[in-house]
Amino acid sequence: MPPVAKVEPITTARALRGPFDYLRPDGVDIGSVLVVPFGHRDVVGVVVGLADSSDLPDERLAAPRRVLDHDLPPDLVELAAWIAEQYCSTLARALALVSPPPRGRAKLTWWASATVAGAPRGRRPTARQRALLAELPRAAGSDLPALRRLEARGLVRLQRRATRRHVEHASVGARRAQPPPLTADQARVLADVDSALNDSRPQPLLLHGVTGSGKTEIYLRAAATALAQRRGVIVLVPEIALTPQIVSRFVDRFGDTVAVLHSKLSPGERHDEWTRLRSGAARVCVGPRSAVFAPIEGLGLIVLDEEHDSSYKHEGDPRYDARHVAARRAQQAGALLVAGSATPRPESVHALRRLRLPARVDGRPLAPVRIVDMRERQGPLHPDTSHALVDARKAIVLLNRRGWSNFVDCRSCGHAWTCPQCDVALVLHRAQRHLACHHCGHREPVPERCVTCGSISVARHGAGTERLEHDLAQIGHDVFRLDAEVRDPGLLLRRFEHSERGILLGTQMVAKGHDFPDVTLGVVVDADSTLRFPDFRAEERTFALVAQLAGRAGRGAGGGRVLVQTMAPEAASIVAAARHDADGFLAAELGRRQALRYPPFSHLIRIVCSASEGQAVGEAVGAIRAALGEIPGAIVLGPAPLFRLRGRERAQLVIKGSQRGPAIGAAGAAVAEVAGDRTRRGVAFSVDVDPQ
Ligand code: ADP
Ligand code: ZN
Ligand code: ZN
Repeated sequence: MPPVAKVEPITTARALRGPFDYLRPDGVDIGSVLVVPFGHRDVVGVVVGLADSSDLPDERLAAPRRVLDHDLPPDLVELAAWIAEQYCSTLARALALVSPPPRGRAKLTWWASATVAGAPRGRRPTARQRALLAELPRAAGSDLPALRRLEARGLVRLQRRATRRHVEHASVGARRAQPPPLTADQARVLADVDSALNDSRPQPLLLHGVTGSGKTEIYLRAAATALAQRRGVIVLVPEIALTPQIVSRFVDRFGDTVAVLHSKLSPGERHDEWTRLRSGAARVCVGPRSAVFAPIEGLGLIVLDEEHDSSYKHEGDPRYDARHVAARRAQQAGALLVAGSATPRPESVHALRRLRLPARVDGRPLAPVRIVDMRERQGPLHPDTSHALVDARKAIVLLNRRGWSNFVDCRSCGHAWTCPQCDVALVLHRAQRHLACHHCGHREPVPERCVTCGSISVARHGAGTERLEHDLAQIGHDVFRLDAEVRDPGLLLRRFEHSERGILLGTQMVAKGHDFPDVTLGVVVDADSTLRFPDFRAEERTFALVAQLAGRAGRGAGGGRVLVQTMAPEAASIVAAARHDADGFLAAELGRRQALRYPPFSHLIRIVCSASEGQAVGEAVGAIRAALGEIPGAIVLGPAPLFRLRGRERAQLVIKGSQRGPAIGAAGAAVAEVAGDRTRRGVAFSVDVDPQ
C-alpha cells in the first residue's frame, strides 16, 4: 500500500496550492476527507492522490489528525480537477463544490414504543388512546401530550432519538402514479433514448420538444430504464421553487429513492440527502445546477431540463456551467445525457443529436401570437392589450424589469440619480420608498427635490413590474407579482393557480416551465428589452423568452392567444418566436454566429480586472494583455472599460479562440503571472470561461 496520501486543503486562498504529502493511515483512499495539521492550524482536506514516497524527509511527513466518516466518490475528485482546469480556478475551490454540505445538528424527535407492562392498570383506555397504542412504535409528533398521558400510566415509553431529517417532498402522497400510455411521438423518441441507455458509451441527446409535448414523461421513462439497470439518475432543473411540478412527478413515480436538493433545505437536511445518495439509499437526485455533483455511483442517466436556462451557469469562482460539467460527468461514467428544451441553445443544436417532439401531447395547437407595434405609443400597455386583459379570466404578463420606474431625473437641470458605487441609474421602488441599485443593493430615500438645482420637478421614466402591478390592479383581476423580491414564489404560484380571475405578472420568472391549463392570454411587455443588451446572446435570449412565455398560454381546452408588445416588430428573434419557428431561428442564428465566429464556432474567455483605482486597473489589464502574447488560433479583444461596480473600476479582455485548450491555458497562465506580482495587491482578477 502506498504510504503517502496527497491532500488538498479546502481553502479559498488562491495562493495556497497543494496537494501536500501526509502519512496515509489504514483505510484512507482517494476521496477520503481528513483533518490535517497545516502550519499552526488544522484544516480539512481531501485525498486527491497516493504515492509510494514523498520528497519530504520522513520526520516532516505528518500524520492526519482525523479521518472524517464521509468520503467523496473518486470520480468526483477527478471531476473537481477537471473543473479547476477548465474554469481557471483552484483544485480546492472545485473540491468544495463536490464536498458534502456541513452536517448541522442532528434533529431529535420523541419516539414512543410499547412497554412490557402489557395490560393497562386502572381505567380502560379510550378509543383514541387505543388507536395510538395500536400504532406503536411511532414518532410522537403532535400526539406528544396524549402519549405522555399513556406514559404516565406505564403503557408507553418515550425516548428522544436522532432521526434522519426527513425531507418533505412536494409529493401527492405515497401512491405511485401510473404512467400514461405514450403518444406515438413519445414512443418513437423513447425508443431512441432507451437504445442509447443500452450503449456502453452513449452519445448525448437533445430532446427538442415544443412546450407541452410531454418531455417530462420521456425523462421519467428513461429514469425508470436506468433504475432497472441498477444505475443512478441525476435530474437537473433550473430553479426548484419555480418548477415544483417536475419534482413532484419524480417523487410520485419513484418514491423514496428520490433525493431532492433545493435552496429551502437547511444545511442538516442537505447533509442527510447527500448521505442518502452516497450510501445508495437514494438513487435519483433532482435539483438545481449543484445537483450535478450528487454523489451517485454507477450513474446511468443525467437529465438537463430547460437546457437553455441561464441559471445553469454559476456566477462565483469556479464559474462553471452545469451543462458542460454534466456532459463531462456523463462521459466519465458512461452515462447518457439527455438535454431537453422547447428553445434549445444554438450550441446544443450544433453539437448534439436531436430528437423531436413536434406537437403537444393533447394535439392542441400552440397559441397564435400577435406582434403589437409600440413605436407610436405612450404608456406601458397598448389599448388592445388592455382590452384583451379585461376579457381574459387568467393571464400571464411578462415585463423583465423590477421596480416602479427605471430611472429618475430632474426636469429642470437634467440631473439623473445614479448609484454612488456603480455607474448605473437607480430604480425607484415606490412601496419601499427608496431608490435602489440593482447591482450592489445601495439604497437611498426617494428624492423630493433635485440635489443639484433644488427643483421639485423630479421625473420618473419607464415602467417596471411594480408600476405595472398598480396599473393592472385597475382592471379588477387579482394581480400576483412574481419577481426577485418575492419571498415564497411557490406559494404565490399556487395562489395564482387557485384564483378565479388572476394575472400573473413578473420578470422572466413567469416564463419558466409552468403548466396552468386555464391561462388563455400571454402578454410580453417590451419584448425587445433583452435585445438592447450589447451581447451576442441577446437574440437567443429574446427568442427563448418570448417563445417560452408564448408556450404558457392556451394549454387547456379553452385555447388561448399571445400578444407581444415591442418597439422592434421586425427583429428576427421576435418574428421567429411569434411564428413558433424554432428551426428558422436556429438556422439563421447559427449562420450569423458562424459568420461572426461566435460560439459554438469559437470559445470565449473573459478576464476582468477590478480595483478601487482606475490606474491600477489599467496597468493590470495591460499587463495581462502583454502576458497573453500570441495565442494560436485566437484573437484578444480589448482592453475595454466596464461600468464601475460596487465602488470598483473595472476593465476586461475577451479571448476569442478556435481551440479551447490553448485559450484556457494562456488565460490561466497570464492571470497567475500577473496576480502573483505583489505590487498588484488590491487588484482582483476573475476568469470566466464561456461567459453568459
Ligand atoms: P413539456 O415538459 O414538454 O412541456 P409535460 O411533460 O409537462 O410537457 O407534459 C404536458 C402535460 O401532458 C402534462 O400535464 C403531462 O402530465 C401530460 N402528458 C405527458 N405525456 C402524456 C401522455 N402520453 N398521455 C397523456 N398525458 C400526457
Ligand atoms: Zn435639477
Ligand atoms: Zn450600485
